Amino acid sequence: MAKVPDTKENLMKCVCGGCPSHDQCMKDKMEGLFCARGKSTCPVTRNGCICGGCPLASEFDLDALYYCETGAEE
Ligand code: SF4
Ligand code: SF4
Repeated sequence: MAKVPDTKENLMKCVCGGCPSHDQCMKDKMEGLFCARGKSTCPVTRNGCICGGCPLASEFDLDALYYCETGAEE
């Protein structure tokens, strides 16, 4: 595991936007890259998490899910 830098490049790679748990509240606030930026300001309903298929998960050796709920990777 490694800390994920909050960069524009990484935001472009984030697949949260296509996740079933990425709800209207998160879309309205244009939230994403939770593994770097920390938890969502929206109430999270777990409808699945696709972080495992994100390019950043392999790049930074991430093994957790639901960063929108639990906060950034340390
Ligand atoms: S690992 Fe998850 S939270 Fe982090 S950038 Fe990828 S999809 Fe977004
Ligand atoms: S962190 Fe996981 S559950 Fe949350 S929006 Fe991103 S992919 Fe979906």
